[in-house]
Amino acid sequence: MTHPHPNSWEARAEAFSLYGFTDLPTVAERGTVVLTHGQGPYVFDTNGKRYLDANSGLWNMVAGFDHPGLTEAAKAQYDRFPGYHAFFGRMSDQTVALSEKLIEVSPYDRGRVFYTNSGSEANDTMVKMLWFLGQSEGRAEARKILTRWNGYHGVTVAAASMTGKPYNSVFGLPLEGFLHLTCPHYWREGQDGESETEFTARLASELDEVIIHEGPETIAGFFAEPVMGAGGVIPPPEGYFQAIQAVLRRYGIPLIADEVICGFGRTGAVWGAETYGFTPDAIISSKNLTAGYFPMGAVILGPALGDQIQNAIDAIDEFPHGFTASGHPVGCAIALKAIDVILNEGLIDRVRAGAPRMEAGLAEIAKHPNIGELRGIGYMWALEAIADPGSKTPFEAHLSVSERIANTCTDLGLICRPLGQSVVLCPPFILSDAEMDEMLEKLDRALGQVFREVA
Ligand SMILES: *Cc1c(COP(=O)(O)O)cnc(C)c1O
Repeated sequence: MTHPHPNSWEARAEAFSLYGFTDLPTVAERGTVVLTHGQGPYVFDTNGKRYLDANSGLWNMVAGFDHPGLTEAAKAQYDRFPGYHAFFGRMSDQTVALSEKLIEVSPYDRGRVFYTNSGSEANDTMVKMLWFLGQSEGRAEARKILTRWNGYHGVTVAAASMTGKPYNSVFGLPLEGFLHLTCPHYWREGQDGESETEFTARLASELDEVIIHEGPETIAGFFAEPVMGAGGVIPPPEGYFQAIQAVLRRYGIPLIADEVICGFGRTGAVWGAETYGFTPDAIISSKNLTAGYFPMGAVILGPALGDQIQNAIDAIDEFPHGFTASGHPVGCAIALKAIDVILNEGLIDRVRAGAPRMEAGLAEIAKHPNIGELRGIGYMWALEAIADPGSKTPFEAHLSVSERIANTCTDLGLICRPLGQSVVLCPPFILSDAEMDEMLEKLDRALGQVFREVA
């Protein structure tokens, strides 16, 4: 694509920016969308075109793009104390208040919180904590990390190693000792004649076998998203976490819930773990934690793991880990407000109330013969396209069906995300009924158009 104006926003973006997680041929064909501002669940580009962002930015802008309470909290804290660290026994009052609040809203009656700038760093931090614990408790061989294929845990070196996606091979990752188990997607991975509970039992046996094979003493922890997000919105099969946790407990291996997407309302409860009825040993939080208004992540340790790690730190007097902006006062002030907005100002209630409506609308759309599966919970859903309904055969990759659907949506003023052969919808929690109807109507139109082209 040639740009009529070399000084256009698009041309300037392409001249100087290195794009991440972007299909460059698509950019070459369609150009870059440069955004300037937002209003409620909508964002606007430099040409003034308005898009309903059914992806909440990147899952995180759950309160929309102009929430006055959140911007006010940020402004007030910038005026009061615009930045500080959490090293050397000093930390801001906002940091103190947020840790207290996070434990209050966690599944734990007590525990400890450590801050990062992102979800990836929170996962890396948790891995370091587990390795540190092994070293300090005379179990230095306890270093292996278990996750699942298709799990997404971020992009820093440990988090990318945990992520079960083939694209990390371009970095020579995963590192040694990061092991991936079967993706818990019954529709895709279930065998002929296998019931959902049999599938769950098979995954629990697989976990047991891997632990025995590797040696239980070599495993540091098991990380899982309650609902896989970037893997294509994959809710766990029936009884999955109960079965997995029973195996892990037999060997004393901690279960870490990566709640970066699920946490703070996405599944209709504060935590995804709450939705699926299990209590993890620690929680990784980010994204919704600040409703996307500040880059921030947190490791929330439950009582047992919190005590164990604190004891190990006490023994050496100092935990040599932390980021310059860990516990940033503005981030903490925003997070405190975001938690209040989500839990007390009705945002989580909106997800609970709106989820059946969203599911029903998508179920109507999913009657199309080229939709193989509708899956999700709360305000996170995916529609998976298939070429042949009978055999679950995907469309040929060169047809780029999910990209075409997403691009057609973009043309119609709706942002949704292609993921493999699926299209993901995870709207902001503030969505009104009329906005939800707009989302469903545009999606339906885009699907009809694309399936007419390729089917
Ligand atoms: C987004 C995400 C991460 C990584 O968070 P970043 O802030 O992008 O580093 C980790 N885990 C899950 C489940 C995520 O969705």
